Amino acid sequence: MTKKEFQAESKRLLEMMINSIYSQREVFLRELISNASDAMDKIYYRALTDDSLTFDKDNYFVKVIPNKENRTLTIVDTGIGMTKEELEANLGVIAKSGSLAFKKENEIKDGHDIIGQFGVGFYAAFMVADVVTVTSKALGSDEAYRWESEGADGYTIEPAEKDSIGTEIVLKIKENTEDESYDEYLEEYRLKSIIKKYSDFIRYPIKMDVTTS
Ligand code: ADP
Ligand code: MG
Repeated sequence: MTKKEFQAESKRLLEMMINSIYSQREVFLRELISNASDAMDKIYYRALTDDSLTFDKDNYFVKVIPNKENRTLTIVDTGIGMTKEELEANLGVIAKSGSLAFKKENEIKDGHDIIGQFGVGFYAAFMVADVVTVTSKALGSDEAYRWESEGADGYTIEPAEKDSIGTEIVLKIKENTEDESYDEYLEEYRLKSIIKKYSDFIRYPIKMDVTTS
């Protein structure tokens, strides 16, 4: 499978994420939950004008699943999902809002502060993960695709299996180093407190499932 390269600007932001300082890392979860919420909003808004679509509130939620054994953190949503083309367009290049914040702030000071203050988007996942796998099935499609990246050197996209519409993001949480620990991103209480701190206003339920195998 051929690996595709990120855009130059995406690569720069990615490198910044990978080398982020400790105090900023926790915002990755805010970014992923906000994307999940946006994806469910998209179904909600589409249902307002599309009679063939009903929006049953009970079907829309985010699930956060830490798994210590596998060292993974999974974020599942029942949002609008992404087609193969959308995976490519949305995750292969840095999103507009993020890139705007990046540019503006970069003119004034060095990059470090922008991570905590602004929506830096999807790539924030690379602050805590060394592999990010996004499996998605778009509304109206019977095919699912998997986007995967180990960071700055590119990403792959391939067909995948997924039953329901929506997106599942698996973060392979970084191994601890001599002076850095990432274990907290697999701890239920810690994840709950990050969610409380940054995602309290999200209007969809955020559920947690703790898996042990
Ligand atoms: P932003 O949210 O500011 O647009 P992001 O980097 O957070 O930037 O996300 C980039 C794009 O990727 C989003 O605009 C959206 O189109 C797509 N995306 C990311 N996560 C999801 C998701 N869970 N479901 C559907 N689309 C998503
Ligand atoms: Mg976002």
